[in-house]
Amino acid sequence: MAARNGAQFVEGLRQAPRETWISGRKVTDVTADPAFKRPVQAIADLYDRQAADPATMTCSEDGETFGATFLTPKSHADLVKRRGAMKVWADSSFGLVGRSPDYLNTIVMTWAEGADFFGQRGAHFADNVRNYYKLCRANDLFLTHAIVNPQSDRSRGSHQQDDAFTHLGVVEETKDGLIVRGAKMLATHGPTADELLVYPQPGIREGEERYVLAFGIPCATKGLKFICREPFDDGTQNVFDHPLGARFEEPDAVCVFDDVLVPWDRVFLYGDVKMGNALFSQASIRNHTGHQTAIRGLAKCQLITGIAVALTRAVKSDTFLHVQEQLGECLGYLQLIEGAIELAERKAEPTGRGAIRPAYAPLQSLRYHLPKWYERMVQVTQVLAAGGLLISPTEADLNSPVGPDIRKYYKGAAVEAEDRIRLFKLAWDATGTQFGQRMLQYERYYAGDPVRVAAGYYNDYDVTPLLDAVKRALAGAR
Ligand SMILES: Cc1cc2nc3c(=O)[nH]c(=O)nc-3n(C[C@H](O)[C@H](O)[C@H](O)COP(=O)(O)OP(=O)(O)OC[C@H]3O[C@@H](n4cnc5c(N)ncnc54)[C@H](O)[C@@H]3O)c2cc1C
Repeated sequence: MAARNGAQFVEGLRQAPRETWISGRKVTDVTADPAFKRPVQAIADLYDRQAADPATMTCSEDGETFGATFLTPKSHADLVKRRGAMKVWADSSFGLVGRSPDYLNTIVMTWAEGADFFGQRGAHFADNVRNYYKLCRANDLFLTHAIVNPQSDRSRGSHQQDDAFTHLGVVEETKDGLIVRGAKMLATHGPTADELLVYPQPGIREGEERYVLAFGIPCATKGLKFICREPFDDGTQNVFDHPLGARFEEPDAVCVFDDVLVPWDRVFLYGDVKMGNALFSQASIRNHTGHQTAIRGLAKCQLITGIAVALTRAVKSDTFLHVQEQLGECLGYLQLIEGAIELAERKAEPTGRGAIRPAYAPLQSLRYHLPKWYERMVQVTQVLAAGGLLISPTEADLNSPVGPDIRKYYKGAAVEAEDRIRLFKLAWDATGTQFGQRMLQYERYYAGDPVRVAAGYYNDYDVTPLLDAVKRALAGAR
């Protein structure tokens, strides 16, 4: 069933009940629950988009047709193909669905392409990774991931927490697989995905072997439960008042493992601190996920900049010089993002195994800067919209006895009141509501801690040419 449509995705979820907790309720069929129906639909819409445009969204290899974001790129054209598919998905949700399927499709692709890394501890681990990629690709599965330990006590290692299994760790090895216990955060679209991936992040210390784990299991696995944050939309928000939040909310969840069996064929890495710390840099993860997240982030930045332009035009504040300056600043960021994506593709490097990957440096630089530019765009939008953001009545008010007053006093410059209200609601939903604030927090943290991202960038960077220039300047040379 390669390259699914929306209905097939929804049916897959329906047939695989998972243990999910939200607002004090236990939910197993997320396709029928009001809190999850819309998030499920948002992902189903992406799969429908894929089915409607197979030329852009799919490709074929050895007689199998599959989603293009599973493609292992071997040429610049392949990278462009991947970008085209990712941009279609990003544009269709304005980049607001952060964990669209292409994110983890990309990760399993990089793992399979670099499977030898996993094979260092035994060839079967490399086989497991390759087989898992084939399974995900052939069935077009939607994956979520939880790779962060719970914020219990960040000053202590996993093995030093009060309870040895606060952080997810191995309880025992059995003939069938590993028994794991503890928690991981923060699985966006956790309860609404087919499969859950767990893998280690750098920063693991000696003594933490039992916490070094990479595996993939169905979300509908016995003993695994998802505990969701309070939803912003309980399924009843209307699209007029919450034009984004009523359509694009992503559930976020902590994953709790109560002695879950991870079968051996689903174990990719286990017990090796050095490998756990090296995984990110060794398996091209950073390059390819940086490519996907930059393309997705570009769509989101384009939306927010467009909103800032539209709302200033609606009240003609864009006639003022300082307003134009701020809009120009945001438009400039869009160019820098596009430029870095193209540079990464142009400077793509061989993996040494017959494939290529986009260059690391431009994308990792975006990983740090894009969230800051996005934050600035949010600030510009809020500052330029000013009090206009906090006067919008509801659709119900427009249809009430005060409707005529609203139509008179809420007009813009050549914009009818209803259109102006819709635009300012869009701006508030993108920047100020609970939904908008999550969108900001997502950009800040979805790719890890920005402090460590930038410090790692410095530590990995080849500064030799820069220091050579300093030497030449000191020597009076050119
Ligand atoms: C909306 C949203 C969606 C997300 N979706 C996902 C997802 O789908 N899957 C997933 O796995 N994760 C997801 N994440 C989690 C994300 O990966 C983490 O938030 C991120 O890695 C930062 O970790 P943390 O939140 O635990 O912060 P912490 O690591 O606890 O950091 C908190 C603060 O303390 C400082 N700090 C903590 N420890 C150290 C240290 N050792 N050295 C230096 N400074 C330190 C940091 O600089 C930071 O300012 C999501 C996060 C958000 C906000």
